[in-house]
Amino acid sequence: MTKEVRTVEFVVLPTSKAKARKMFQIAGACRYVWNHFREKNLADYQAFVNGKGGRPRTSYFSLGVEFTRLRHETSWLRELPANPIKYTLKYFADALKEAMVGKKGFPKPRSRKRTTPGFTLPSKENFAIKKLDRKYSLLRVPLVGWVKMTRKGGNPYEDGTPKQVVLRHDGHRWRVFVFYEVEVARRPDDGEFLGVDMNVRQVATSDGHFYFLPDLEKKERRRKRYQRRMARQIKGSNRRKDTKKKLAKVSRKIANIRKNWVHKTTREVAERCGTIVVEDLKVKNMTASARGTVENPGKNVKQKTGLNREMLDTAFGELRRNLEYKCGRLIEVNPAYTSQTCSECGHTDRENRKSQARFLCVDCGFVSNADTNAAMNIRRLGMAQLHGEKRSGIKQTSKTREIDTRTPYG
Ligand SMILES: [Zn+2]
Repeated sequence: MTKEVRTVEFVVLPTSKAKARKMFQIAGACRYVWNHFREKNLADYQAFVNGKGGRPRTSYFSLGVEFTRLRHETSWLRELPANPIKYTLKYFADALKEAMVGKKGFPKPRSRKRTTPGFTLPSKENFAIKKLDRKYSLLRVPLVGWVKMTRKGGNPYEDGTPKQVVLRHDGHRWRVFVFYEVEVARRPDDGEFLGVDMNVRQVATSDGHFYFLPDLEKKERRRKRYQRRMARQIKGSNRRKDTKKKLAKVSRKIANIRKNWVHKTTREVAERCGTIVVEDLKVKNMTASARGTVENPGKNVKQKTGLNREMLDTAFGELRRNLEYKCGRLIEVNPAYTSQTCSECGHTDRENRKSQARFLCVDCGFVSNADTNAAMNIRRLGMAQLHGEKRSGIKQTSKTREIDTRTPYG
């Protein structure tokens, strides 16, 4: 048995206006504190980057000391709960640290309009959770009091220990992410390997299973229509606001359908086998953009750049991240030629792939679904990599992870 962190997402039922106002107040204070510390640290950071100053003190601890001083001087801040607001500086310290080592740019300001309102209740002293009945639970938020929340299918980890709570407003409702520490039995290593070929709209496994994303075409068309309509409308007009609401709604629906599909698919895949082999996404995305489709090499190249590329990245990333914690062991392999190589005889040839769906080996005549064939190649590569593990030093899933507070709206 090992201890792991599992996230359970609830939605908050409509509350009284007073409670809603208080939740937004806390979120607003977090934004204020972030921006305040950002301004304060910007000059120091720039001096440091230009070699004109020492390394600024950027630990959560030293920022926390500053925060206590600020809170003491600011009366409206004093009336709000300290811990959730102070915890913003944990995220800020992390972002600053990444900027210092040159991994990312200096943290961006948080805006009232563009940033998702949210805050974190960092430890169990800051919240309480009570089960009301099969359908509803209560969450105690500092200042706000008890709010009622629910989750479709109930709470799968209600016996776990809640460690932290993140609240976010998705533009429509407040969502609650509870991080539970749970005891999980590791899936015993059965010596079996399953190769997984990931595509934007489907996942294929080496044993011939397919998982298709529900058809989103209608919704995506509607989203495009609203986007175009909004671009035409006058800023600040009521019609534009109306369109914006509709756009947000359909975007939310698409995101939810995707999210549910990812969860369901990865759970089913992970349950089937001890070791899962996937493609290395960094390499996959690089090749996917330049390759286009089989019939029209380079055709989709333009579409896959820009925003679309970003969507691709997150779609694969989510699948991978979910598989990683659900399966016993995850191995990543280089996906080069997995779609052109015959999984029967190993013959690699562009001609092998007759169409997007069909694989026919020009050497041995092996016929298969193209994605299944790719998944079989991925499986074989994974086995080879594991057996030569000491030499190649492959990446493996780490079982002890920090609480991952990234949420779909973060
Ligand atoms: Zn062959």
